[in-house]
Amino acid sequence: MSLFEVDGLRKNFGALRATDDVSLTVDAGQIHALIGPNGAGKSTLVNLISGLIAPDAGRVRLDGVDLTPLPMHARVRAGLSRCFQITSIFRQSTVMENLLLAAQAHAGSSLRFLGERNREAALRATADELAARVGLSHALDRIAGTLPHGAQRQLDVALALAARPKLLLLDEPMAGMGPEDSQQMTALIHELQRDMAILLIEHDMKAVFELADRISVLVYGRVLVAGSVDEIRGHPQVQAVYLGTEEVDA
Ligand code: ADP
Ligand code: MG
Repeated sequence: MSLFEVDGLRKNFGALRATDDVSLTVDAGQIHALIGPNGAGKSTLVNLISGLIAPDAGRVRLDGVDLTPLPMHARVRAGLSRCFQITSIFRQSTVMENLLLAAQAHAGSSLRFLGERNREAALRATADELAARVGLSHALDRIAGTLPHGAQRQLDVALALAARPKLLLLDEPMAGMGPEDSQQMTALIHELQRDMAILLIEHDMKAVFELADRISVLVYGRVLVAGSVDEIRGHPQVQAVYLGTEEVDA
C-alpha cells in the first residue's frame, strides 16, 4: 500500500468536470509531480486533497487514515502539509516571529510540562532548526514582507514543515522565480525528500524532470498518463498535448 492514495476523486463546478475520476499514489520517500496545461484542474485537485473544497466523489488516504471526511486542520495533524504560497506568511513580522508562531501552532501538548522559559527555548530551537532547513538562518530578524521573492517562498516551505508532514503538498513552488532561486528551491525540495513524500505541482519542467520519481499528466481534469520521467518525456501524446515546447527538448 502506498503512503498516500487519491482514489476516484471527482469535482464538478456546474457543468464543468474540473476533476474527473483522478487516482494517484505517492510512495514513501518519493516525489510525485503533477503537470498539465492551464485549466487542467491542478489547483482544484490540490484544494480537494488539502480539504479546502469537498469532492463530489472519491477518497483521499494518508498512511492508512481516510482524510476525506476531515477538515483542513485535521488533515494537517494527520500529516498532510500544504504550502500556501506567499499569502500564508505574516508580512509585517520577522522571519523568526513567523517561525515561532508556526512552531507554537504545531507544538500541541508536547511542551505542556515545561515551564515558561523552557517552553520558549524549545520553540526557539524549533524555529532555528526550521530556518536552517530552508536556508534562512541569516535572515531571522528580517521583516518577512521585505525578503526577496525566493526567500519568501523558502519561508513558506518552512511554515509547512513546522507541522512535520508525512506528505508535503507543493503548489508551484517555483512560480515567479528566476533560474537562481529556482535552482535553490530544487535543491531544497530534493533535500526534503529524505524525510517526507512530496506531491509537487509545477510548471518548471526542468525542475520536474530533475526531481520527480513519478509524473502524472493532468488534462481536462483527467490523468492522461502517469509514469517515470523517461516515460513521460518520451510520450508522444504528452508531447502533443502539453510538452510541445522548447523546454522539453533541453
Ligand atoms: P489549473 O490549476 O490546472 O490551471 P484549475 O484547477 O484552476 O486548473 O481549474 C480547472 C478548471 O476548473 C478551469 O476550467 C477553471 O476555470 C475551473 N474552476 C476552478 N475553480 C473553480 C470554481 N471555484 N468555480 C468554477 N470553476 C472553477
Ligand atoms: Mg493552478
